[in-house]
Amino acid sequence: MPYTIPAEKISEIKYASDILEIISESVVLKKSGRNYLGLCPFHSEKTPSFTVTPDKQMFYCFGCGEGGNVFTFIMKQEGLTFPEAVRFLAGRCRITIPEYSKGVVSENQINERDILLQINQQAMTVYHDMLIKSDDGAGARSYLERRGIPANILTGFKIGYAPPDWGRLTQYFSRLGTALNLVEKAGLIVRRSSGNGYYDRFRDRVIFPIFNSRHQVIAFGGRVMDTSLPKYLNSPETPVYSKSKSLYGFDIARSFCRQAGEVFVAEGYMDLLSLHLHGIQNSTATLGTAMTEEHIRLLKGICDKIILVFDSDQAGIKAAQRCTELFRLHHQPGDIRILVLPEGEDPDTYLQKYGSAAFRKAAADAYGVFSFLVDIAIQKHGLSLEGKLRVIQEMEAPLSSLSDAVVRSSVIREISERTGIDESAIQEKYRPAIHSRSTSKPLDTRTSDDHLRFEKRLIAMMLQFSEIIPEVIERKLIETLSDPLLKSIAMDIVACFDRMKQFSEHMDDLPSLLVMETDQIEKKKIIAEYSIQREEWRREGCLKLMDQYAAMQKRRRVRLLQQKIKAAEESHDDRLLQQLLKDFQMVTCPQEAGDYGKTVR
Ligand SMILES: [Zn+2]
Repeated sequence: MPYTIPAEKISEIKYASDILEIISESVVLKKSGRNYLGLCPFHSEKTPSFTVTPDKQMFYCFGCGEGGNVFTFIMKQEGLTFPEAVRFLAGRCRITIPEYSKGVVSENQINERDILLQINQQAMTVYHDMLIKSDDGAGARSYLERRGIPANILTGFKIGYAPPDWGRLTQYFSRLGTALNLVEKAGLIVRRSSGNGYYDRFRDRVIFPIFNSRHQVIAFGGRVMDTSLPKYLNSPETPVYSKSKSLYGFDIARSFCRQAGEVFVAEGYMDLLSLHLHGIQNSTATLGTAMTEEHIRLLKGICDKIILVFDSDQAGIKAAQRCTELFRLHHQPGDIRILVLPEGEDPDTYLQKYGSAAFRKAAADAYGVFSFLVDIAIQKHGLSLEGKLRVIQEMEAPLSSLSDAVVRSSVIREISERTGIDESAIQEKYRPAIHSRSTSKPLDTRTSDDHLRFEKRLIAMMLQFSEIIPEVIERKLIETLSDPLLKSIAMDIVACFDRMKQFSEHMDDLPSLLVMETDQIEKKKIIAEYSIQREEWRREGCLKLMDQYAAMQKRRRVRLLQQKIKAAEESHDDRLLQQLLKDFQMVTCPQEAGDYGKTVR
């Protein structure tokens, strides 16, 4: 039997883990009434729609629909399974979960991710020891020394060395009795294309372990020490590693970034180490990939300003263009600056020559993505009349990616200031391109007024004041709801309520449970919205609301019947008319309905 965590442990952990505290570690939250608002860590956005409700211990994003409780958040944020998330939080709040005994549980029953992480951890130790202690590592040690990397950085970042032979790591794991197909799955060894067996992926390279935010080794990067190619070799994507979501050194940089409110993103391992070495610890590096939206999301979660550091214009331009693509996809990814170091300098040489104060000063003056592109265009074309026109032309494509009118007009103003060409003339030039972007949205079709508002209030009431649900059931209120979506939500609420009652669960969890269980995004949104906008409900108030609703329902039916009666009269449909009049009587004074035939005619 696979090991399962006891349910009472799960709820113990849940009540010991404060959702606000946990989310605050990775998302900047601002108080707003009973809730807290921040930029969603799961999708790119400019205005906060990510809501945390401490009262309900739930979170919800109105932009992308992610929502749930503290476990859901950790699962999503850290890429964990449910049991992993439970263990993660247990560790934080120092609750011990009884462990399974490894002897009893067979290998395939332990989560594969855990095994891969364990293999990585072992490999890291092998590589690190090789660098620090062995004769094989002497060459690498002196290389790193020449590059000015001191011992504390080597140990802090657990840097290692892979020797030149093809089978060292393979032998290590096979002696250990580890299944080699799993070592292969961890990306450390490669199956031979002919014959049997495996060989080591990393050979004669300095090894940089890559950690996730839980300080687990998820992958490795290897750098050659001479001019051979490829200069860098990284682990392939594995079940525990995705390079578009990982940043080198981020586990260490995290708290520094939060303090500084900004983060430097370097291009490679060595650049990052130089930055740390010079006391610029709020820095991280991408892993041989351009900045992705996941990276930005990760970074935006902890600080507002992202400064991309490059050692050449070309790399800077590429990155800036890439960023405008992100703008196209996701409105505005935020304050992203491009810092290009003077020609011939990389972060290391620059910091050695000018020091960290100069670096920070240069960073403070760094251009935003669009200003940087304007600058580059001016450098390229000059400021002759023809040059200016070219600059304007060249900015057309990046500008077309901006859906935010305010940002767009500020960029246009900047182009105008820097070229001396009138703002309105530039506007005019861009107009067709800009125009084609703005799709004309048809006016919202009028929703059915008061009635719908009433039904929404009833749903909100059920979500926020679950004590009233039995009364709602008793009154058969749900059957009378006219909006199909709201009706279906009401049915879900009742089903969830019944189930929770059976297991005598705490009803405060009802909204977050519902959000988690619902896969339809419109439903999710409505449930979250009404759970979050919490008001003080009292039983009397609820009863009154239900009475009012019933009265309104009645008026509505009466109106409807009157219309139908009129139509039936006009078309001389006697039989229908009889039926409608009967219905009418039934609705208006049910006790006399039986006598109707005599009284009317
Ligand atoms: Zn979101």
